[in-house]
Amino acid sequence: MEIIRTVAWMKQVAAEARRGDRLLGLVPTMGALHEGHLSLVREAQRQCSPVVVSIFVNPKQFGPSEDFQKYPRTFDADREVLENLRVDYVFAPPPEEVYPAGFRTSVNVEGLSDRLEGRSRPGHFRGVTTVVLKLLEIVQPRFAFFGRKDAQQARIISQMARDLDLDAEIVVCPIVREADGLAMSSRNAYLSADERRAATVLSKSLQRARKEIDAGETDVVKLVAAVRGVIEKDPGVVLDYAEIVDADTLEPAMTLRKPAYILLAAKVGNTRLIDNARIEPAGDSLRVTI
Ligand code: AMP
Repeated sequence: MEIIRTVAWMKQVAAEARRGDRLLGLVPTMGALHEGHLSLVREAQRQCSPVVVSIFVNPKQFGPSEDFQKYPRTFDADREVLENLRVDYVFAPPPEEVYPAGFRTSVNVEGLSDRLEGRSRPGHFRGVTTVVLKLLEIVQPRFAFFGRKDAQQARIISQMARDLDLDAEIVVCPIVREADGLAMSSRNAYLSADERRAATVLSKSLQRARKEIDAGETDVVKLVAAVRGVIEKDPGVVLDYAEIVDADTLEPAMTLRKPAYILLAAKVGNTRLIDNARIEPAGDSLRVTI
């Protein structure tokens, strides 16, 4: 496994790797790797060779009062797990490689970036799309792998790839969860034991929605109320938003006749967590994937 620290070297290695009929795959991450990330790596390895995993804590996607400084950085452990998985390349540039002095450009996906996470974290998605576009340009993979854990992010990146005629196909992979349902996240490391227990209400609220949908409920207002009810019962968890949105437009869904997401964000102590479930028509019924 080769560790690459500069853009110029990454471009050269990627250009070489794209020669012939090899399918180059990219898995962008911010490190502090967990099974969620590793599931993307394994899916990338199933579809592609060689595979590049990028590890870059992107300052531009953190707000001024957010956790950029304390975001977990565990490079040595990350390198070891990726080595064990036989990943080909790790691209781990320092910030000044990605944003040299005088850097001025950003890319923004209008509309989709302003709602939900975008409203609570102004500028967040502009930072995400800017760095992901740079990574896609540097590596020029055939496929790039993202998690449905960040459903709005995946939707925005797919839109950017389409709008800018990027060659990379955006692949969205399932959410990996802890045994008790909590969606894996590098930020779970911030949780105290009590907070860790409280955090399970997010996935529990999605399970409640699935139960109601399985029992025939299709009224989005009632479903949102049920989700909120589960979360608000726990005083240790402060809901930011719970919405059912159209999977394509991310606008509030009026019916469940088209694919939709239940999107959640909440604060557990000082830690902001997100989660979601996908709802899609399946024959005469609805399939809910948590
Ligand atoms: P991050 O390091 O948090 O920026 O995440 C890097 C990639 O891993 C993103 O595409 C995330 O959506 C994905 N990811 C993070 N957590 C999970 C999870 N629990 N299940 C699946 N994918 C995940």
